[in-house]
Amino acid sequence: MKIIHAASELYPYVKTGGLADAVGSLASTLADKGHEVAVFVPAYRAALEHKDMARAEQRLGLRVEMGDRICAGDVRVLPLKKGLTVYFIGREEYFDRRFPYGNGERDYEDNDARFVFFCKAVVEVMRIAEIRADVVHSHDWQAALLPLLVRYEERRSGISLAMKTVFTIHNIAFQGVFPMRSFALTNLPDELLGIDGFEYYGQINLMKGGILFADRVTTVSPRYAQEIQTPEFGCGLEGVVGTRSDDLVGLVNGIDPKVWNPARDRLLPARYAVHDLTGKPVCRAALLKKMGFDEAFKGPVFGMICRLTEQKGLDLLLAAKDFFIEHDCRLIVLGTGEKRYETALRALAQVHPKKIALSLKLDEETSHLIEAGADFFLMPSLFEPCGLNQMYSQAYGTVPVVSRVGGFIDTVVDLDEHPEDGTGIMFVPSAGEFVQALYRALQLHGQPERLGETIRRAMSRDFSWEKAATAYERLYENTI
Ligand code: ADP
Repeated sequence: MKIIHAASELYPYVKTGGLADAVGSLASTLADKGHEVAVFVPAYRAALEHKDMARAEQRLGLRVEMGDRICAGDVRVLPLKKGLTVYFIGREEYFDRRFPYGNGERDYEDNDARFVFFCKAVVEVMRIAEIRADVVHSHDWQAALLPLLVRYEERRSGISLAMKTVFTIHNIAFQGVFPMRSFALTNLPDELLGIDGFEYYGQINLMKGGILFADRVTTVSPRYAQEIQTPEFGCGLEGVVGTRSDDLVGLVNGIDPKVWNPARDRLLPARYAVHDLTGKPVCRAALLKKMGFDEAFKGPVFGMICRLTEQKGLDLLLAAKDFFIEHDCRLIVLGTGEKRYETALRALAQVHPKKIALSLKLDEETSHLIEAGADFFLMPSLFEPCGLNQMYSQAYGTVPVVSRVGGFIDTVVDLDEHPEDGTGIMFVPSAGEFVQALYRALQLHGQPERLGETIRRAMSRDFSWEKAATAYERLYENTI
C-alpha cells in the first residue's frame, strides 16, 4: 500500500511527547513490512538543524492559498530507508521556531495559520508531486483538516489523491480551538462551519473536523476509545466521537525495540535481558550516582518521567510527598512543563536533597537510565490515551505503578488482581489510592522472590510495533 502520514511531530526530528514516537515507529514498521510510506511533518528549527537534513534530496517551492493570500513555502524530501520518505513542510515565518506549539507559557497566537498551512501544503505536495495514496493517515488536531482538504482538492481538480482517510486521536485534550474567523484560512465553504461541521460553542474546533470527516477514526488504546465517548474523558467532544462509534477503533501503540531494548541500549552503562539481569543493578547504581545519591542505597527507587502537567498526576505526586519523606526510599523525577509544578518540585528537592532528585530538562539519556535503574516507575495520570513509559518500564524490568485509566488498563496487569500474571501496580487515581499503591510497592520491594517473578513476567511481554503495525495494516485493508 501507499500510505501517507501527516503529523506535527516525528522522532527523531521533533518530539514533545508520545506522538513523535508513535508516528516514527508506525511509519518505519509499515515500511519494513513492504509498504511505501511517506511522512509529512513541519520543518521546525530542530528538524532543520538535524544532521540528516544535509541528506535531503530536493527542495521544492510551494504556493499555498490561505484565505485571500497566497503563502509561499517549501518542502524538503528526505529518503530515510527503503519504502520510507519524510517530507518536511517549510515556511520560515511559521516553523523556524525553537518550540513547536508555544513558548512554554502560552501557545503561539498564529497556531491556526501555522497548521492550516501545514495541512494545505501536504495536499499541495501530493498534487504537484503526483502522489496517489491508498491511505492518508493524519494525527491529532494539527493534521485534522487533512481528510476534508483531500476531498475538496479532489473535487476541485478532478484528480484522485487518496482512496481512504484515517484520523488518529492521540490526546483529545488538545483540540485546536480557534476563533470563527480562522476558518477563512481554510478556503473551505462556509456550510462546513455549522454545528454539523467545525463549529464548537461559537468557535472552530479542528479536531472535531478530523473526527467527523475521516473515513475511519482511531485512538491509541481500546480503553481510551471507550473513555472518550464519556463526559469524564471526552473533553466536550464525547458526543461527536459517539456519532462515529461504528468507525472508531482503539489500537495500542508499540515500542521501538531499536530504541527501547535493555539488551541493546547504548545509552546505558550496562545492558541486560530477562535471562541475565546482572546489568540492571549496574544501571541502578549509575542512576543513583548521577542523581547525587549513595550508589549503594538498597531501598526502593521510584522514577518518573513526564510532561509536568495536571494530566500526568503531578498533584497526586505532590500530595504524596510525605510518603517519600517518611520512608527509606528515593524519588527521581525528570520532566519539563508547567512552572507551578517545576517550582513545587524544586522546593521539595531542595528541602529533601537526600531523598528526592529532580532534573527539569528534556534528557533522552537520563530517561533511559531512569527506566533501567529505578525499581518502580510512577505514572499517576488522571487520564492516559496510551502512555509509553509503562511499556518501556516493563521492557526494562521496572515495575510500573499506574492509575487505572486509558491505555494503562490495556497494557499493565495488576499484581493483586492477577497474582500469577501481574506486571504492575494499579490504582484508581486519587491522592489516597496513590499512597496506598506506593505502600504496595514498598511491600513488593521487601519480597525479592515475588518482585523477581514480576520483573521477569513484565520483561517477557511483547509490546513490539510489529504487532501494533499489523493491526493498522488490517485496519487500512478493511477500510479500503
Ligand atoms: P505524552 O505523549 O502524553 O507526553 P507518553 O507517555 O505517551 O506521554 O510519551 C511521553 C514520551 O516523552 C516518553 O517517551 C517519555 O519518556 C518522554 N519524555 C517526557 N518527558 C521527558 C523528558 N523530560 N526527558 C526525556 N524524555 C521525556
